[in-house]
Amino acid sequence: MLQKKEVPYIGYARALGVGGSYSGAGDVVDLDGEGEVLSPLEKNSAQWEAIHRAVDQRSACSSCFGHLSAVLRRWDGPLPWKEKEICIGQDFKGEILAKGQWGIGSCTEGSRCLKGCPPSEDDIRSFLEGLNG
Ligand code: SF4
Repeated sequence: MLQKKEVPYIGYARALGVGGSYSGAGDVVDLDGEGEVLSPLEKNSAQWEAIHRAVDQRSACSSCFGHLSAVLRRWDGPLPWKEKEICIGQDFKGEILAKGQWGIGSCTEGSRCLKGCPPSEDDIRSFLEGLNG
């Protein structure tokens, strides 16, 4: 697991009075209504591998990738996408997606993408379900 000292901006935010760090036991409150708080995704777990196989992530904001990741983690059954078919991230700006690729977020703007910055989990779920419906 990532150590707090590895993410310096957490300390900067606390020093500036605009944020804090959390490391103690306590309650996690689900604010997005999904009714399930996801535990941290373990690197190299089967689910981690499946998501990183399906998704081509290039400089995605954490909010954008976080929403996509949450949708994929809650996906009913195995992910139906082949190698790197879902694209997300700022490095896709101005890129034309290849045939068979789909974009998540306005950075992948084009005829085969879901706009939004970041798109909501609900919108991502509907978009991805529509691809397979
Ligand atoms: S669409 Fe917005 S939130 Fe998503 S990667 Fe691009 S800039 Fe970040």
